[in-house]
Amino acid sequence: MGKKVRILLIYTGGTIGMVKDYPSGTLRAFDFKKLVTYIPELSQLDCKIESISFKQPIDSSDMNPSHWVEIASIIEKHYDSYDGFVVLQGSDTMSYSSSALSYMLENLSKPVIFTGSQLPIGDLRTDAKENLITSIQIAALQENSQAVIQEVCLYFEYKLYRANRTTKINAEHFQAFSSLNFPALAESGVHLKINRNYLLKHKKNQKLAVHKTMDTNVAIFKLFPGFSRELLHGILNIPNLKALVFETYGAGNAPTDEWLLSDLKEAIKKGLHIVNVTQCSGGSVIMGRYSTSEELRKIQLIDGSDITSEAAITKLMYLLGSGVSHKSFRTIFETSLRGELS
Ligand code: ASP
Repeated sequence: MGKKVRILLIYTGGTIGMVKDYPSGTLRAFDFKKLVTYIPELSQLDCKIESISFKQPIDSSDMNPSHWVEIASIIEKHYDSYDGFVVLQGSDTMSYSSSALSYMLENLSKPVIFTGSQLPIGDLRTDAKENLITSIQIAALQENSQAVIQEVCLYFEYKLYRANRTTKINAEHFQAFSSLNFPALAESGVHLKINRNYLLKHKKNQKLAVHKTMDTNVAIFKLFPGFSRELLHGILNIPNLKALVFETYGAGNAPTDEWLLSDLKEAIKKGLHIVNVTQCSGGSVIMGRYSTSEELRKIQLIDGSDITSEAAITKLMYLLGSGVSHKSFRTIFETSLRGELS
């Protein structure tokens, strides 16, 4: 008999690890070591499951890059001892964390699957059980002694997505995430259907490289009709700001006011990296399609194409933290590093 596949669960916090205290109606974190008490089905899975928990589990709204580094370090430390990793966290910032981890973990040959739930594990109607059990099953999938999934993913409500393509779209539906610009990597129904053509493949002989420096001198500015020059000025002049996600309308469009173009141009000249990302959840920036974006192209905004804002802001943190030179910054940003761009 072959060796059992080993899966490490990393619990960081969030609703999935909570139980409802029915008399008072409040939610409280439970001792994660007692997971099997809440999900006895786990003992039926054909793999060995172990877990590590953050000392102080947190709501994902409290997460920041230091927590991403903590997750990356746990995976690095246990990389050789486990065949797959399932990260449990709150869904609110899950697309940010999992996008960040997709950059931080270079040359992955094993799955890292983020999941969580909308209802606590101890709730009668919880979605936690399905999300957790299927995430573990997917993380444990092997073929010729190799992991089938070799990238950072997010599993929620019967779908496995490439993490850096996702956005949280609903605060109450079980289907809380969407990936409008890239198909699901797997779907769970009566059978687990893996869309193999879409999976990233690990390059042979490339060892895992873990990048732990994320530079937070970044910002997001979402356009809205009527935004003032003062507001933009305030953002462009934030001390030490190095890069900005400029969330534009539709296919990358912005007002044609002369002051806007000249202020952006000035900021770029001073060294700020500005990326044009659409504020639509699906579709792509196409600079030059309309005259309202042609000017942005001319002043050399970086083309965000069909990247999500979550994947863009974390990519900026990663590239700045990696010390990418000013000269090659645009080219590297516009290159798909972990499947985040089409
Ligand atoms: N507020 C919670 C969190 O993101 C929601 C959840 O667990 O999904 O931590």
